[in-house]
Amino acid sequence: MIARGLNVNCPFYPETTPCESSARKTTETMTTRRIRQREQLVDITAGRPEARRTVDGMTTDLPITDDEWRIRLTPSEFRVLREAGTEPPWSGEYVDTKTEGIYNCRACGVALYNSDSKFDSHCGWPSYDDAIPGAVKEIEDRNHGMVRVEIRCANCDSHLGHVFRGEGFTPKNTRHCVNSLSVRLDPSA
Ligand SMILES: [Zn+2]
Repeated sequence: MIARGLNVNCPFYPETTPCESSARKTTETMTTRRIRQREQLVDITAGRPEARRTVDGMTTDLPITDDEWRIRLTPSEFRVLREAGTEPPWSGEYVDTKTEGIYNCRACGVALYNSDSKFDSHCGWPSYDDAIPGAVKEIEDRNHGMVRVEIRCANCDSHLGHVFRGEGFTPKNTRHCVNSLSVRLDPSA
């Protein structure tokens, strides 16, 4: 039996915060804001060629500053993707999702995980036993008194979650523990 909410099987998220329901907006407000954000995003990345900049020798349309990322992302998405936050366990929209498709980075849109790699870990976050080759990079994380391996999108450096090995969940013996807020499922892919 799984003790939902107690997070007994996944003690890797001490930074988990209480439910963010107080920060949620009405659907109408969110829709209005998203339309406005999209218009602003077009202004930044497409409408103004001068906004295209060179980073590390490569031209990028990705936001660079935090202010630019805040235009593209909701406050909750920004907290997770750009500040390495963690959504509360069992709160994400993809925890129990079985729909086939590709999970793309919510920050930049590149493909990160195939639904074939998703499995039930009962830890409260979407779990995958493998990433699309080259899509995810690993970084040692020594925060919160632990040594963990953080996973980020290799394309835009946004935080996804952490990866754990040796737990025996699947033959690949790997669990990419990912925030739902870090990905978006494309069921048609
Ligand atoms: Zn990305």
